[in-house]
Amino acid sequence: MNKSAQIWMNGRLIPWDEAKVHVLAHAIHYGSSMFEGIRCYETENGSAVLFLKEHMRRLFDSAKIYRINIPYTIDELCQATIGVIVANKQRSCYIRPIVFRGAGALGVNPKSAAIDLAIATWEWGSYLGEAVLETGVDVRIATWNRPAPNTTPAGAKAGGNYLNSQLIKMEALMDGYAEGIALDAFGYVSEGSGENIFVVRDGVIHTPFAAQSILPGITRNAVMQLAKSLGFEVKEAFISRESLYIADEIFMTGTAAEITPVRSVDKYQIGTGKPGEMTKALQSAYFDVIHKGIDNRGWLTFLDNE
Ligand code: PMP
Repeated sequence: MNKSAQIWMNGRLIPWDEAKVHVLAHAIHYGSSMFEGIRCYETENGSAVLFLKEHMRRLFDSAKIYRINIPYTIDELCQATIGVIVANKQRSCYIRPIVFRGAGALGVNPKSAAIDLAIATWEWGSYLGEAVLETGVDVRIATWNRPAPNTTPAGAKAGGNYLNSQLIKMEALMDGYAEGIALDAFGYVSEGSGENIFVVRDGVIHTPFAAQSILPGITRNAVMQLAKSLGFEVKEAFISRESLYIADEIFMTGTAAEITPVRSVDKYQIGTGKPGEMTKALQSAYFDVIHKGIDNRGWLTFLDNE
């Protein structure tokens, strides 16, 4: 991991190595942390954070679900984020805000545990590998399902949810796949360990409903908007496992994965085995935003440190 100089923690910038937690922090024992993954890109128009406010809003939503009161406003955390990037002199980076229940209570009831917050930034390359954006990835259906509705809420980006994601990811990698696609508790397609999924058949784009044990991805939402502006039909739908095998195109979306084409699922070749036309058109529209810095929708927050 590329260390940066400073991390914002509970309202101030401190050296990276000093941003520590107590071993009895509630979050370590019970998974009570909420976090975000955000990216800052060095675009042709300058460095900019993608979907800063949307991510901070989701952080507040996740915290609310778990009855955590964040003692800052969304705007304050957005400003703090820009402050860390500038302090670390970064032009592009990955940004990890996290709010967690700290030390002070070790009962399951977290009432007297501290609420701690940190925002870290560091330089990070492409998540699934640079080449895969062009070639596509091989994925499998995970043997693990996503959590059933009304268990651990998939709509909150909580640390504890990533136990399920770890099982899915480790299994996929051990078997030589780039990622695992999990089904929901009813056997319908849900999402990858860290990406949402889109499936194209006969020119129509399908993606699981937000209620199907998925994290409602910010990239997912953006891709749905881009698809509509390109004149593509996009539908939320129940997606069966077998419909993946006979899809014309499949791609996965996420802050880290961006728009990654899928070239095979369980060794069934998808379409021609190369990224499809709709996938490529969406990638190109997305890359215009993140690489060229073309932003008609207020998705980018440009840094003032030009
Ligand atoms: N699902 C899961 C489980 C994830 O961890 C992520 C990554 N945050 C996503 C979907 C994609 O979400 P986003 O587009 O907001 O990064």
